[in-house]
Amino acid sequence: MNWISKILKVGEKIKTNIQKKFPTKKQQSESKWISCCSEYPNLKSEIFNEEQLNTCPRCDRHYPFTPRERFNHFFGKNNYEILDTPRPPDNPIDWPDKIYEKKLKKARELTGHHCAVMVAQGKRDGIKITSFAIDSRFIGGSINNSSGEAIVSCFAKALEDKTPVLGWSEGGGQAMYQSGIALQFMVKTVLAANTFKKESGQPYINIYTNKVYGGITASFAAPSLSDIAFSEPKGTMIGFAGQAIVRNQTREELNSDFQTSSRMLEVGFVDAIFHRKEINDKIMNILKILLHKKNNEFEATDNNTKIREKISA
Ligand SMILES: [Zn+2]
Repeated sequence: MNWISKILKVGEKIKTNIQKKFPTKKQQSESKWISCCSEYPNLKSEIFNEEQLNTCPRCDRHYPFTPRERFNHFFGKNNYEILDTPRPPDNPIDWPDKIYEKKLKKARELTGHHCAVMVAQGKRDGIKITSFAIDSRFIGGSINNSSGEAIVSCFAKALEDKTPVLGWSEGGGQAMYQSGIALQFMVKTVLAANTFKKESGQPYINIYTNKVYGGITASFAAPSLSDIAFSEPKGTMIGFAGQAIVRNQTREELNSDFQTSSRMLEVGFVDAIFHRKEINDKIMNILKILLHKKNNEFEATDNNTKIREKISA
């Protein structure tokens, strides 16, 4: 036995021992239990049900919502239309051996949609709204050419129909498998959002949910771009580079609230934090104020403090 075979054998032994001690991802997904906040694991059925909306009843931790769950919750079950979005080439920078295509195929089978972004149009309280939501199960919610085009088409459709835009932002950033092509969608989505705001005069409300990082927070989900930026509470993390990267680069201990939504509220990155059970009503409150403001039915409300007073009332 040569030294390579010996090392491989030792490696296999370590792997087997680790597998014996820790459950695999498959075992975790098949388990009825989840470790959240309590000393003992919670039953998954306590958290993942219609009443709890995937939030923990004990600590209010918010677990991810898929785009369909989100639209069902916001517009009402199937009370919306999923819009078709462009389908540019899957492998524009020509990765060998179909590496990226295989990843896309797997993600499409898992989620049932073409890219990480879903766009829908529906009505709530009689107001027509165009909305996009990102699915982190789709390769970490990364923005490739298809997802970027979906965001652009959401703003374009909202501009055409003169509706507000409601964005549910999450995901790891731009798709590095598409390199510069994914990065240029940071520019394209910002231009789309700006054009929409300038030409339609309609509001754009952005909500941070789950984990929002990289090119997503730095482009169409930037708080400077949306009229209002809300966030879900515990479970939502907002930043550019992830905690581990920042810790390794700065070699400093990070505060326990680093990148949490509550910290982001303190520093003014988000305007308010709401529980999933009440966020839809709060969005509609602010939307009505903003739309009325445009029609001059409300006076001098374009000051953040007054808007905050109104939405937290
Ligand atoms: Zn919990």
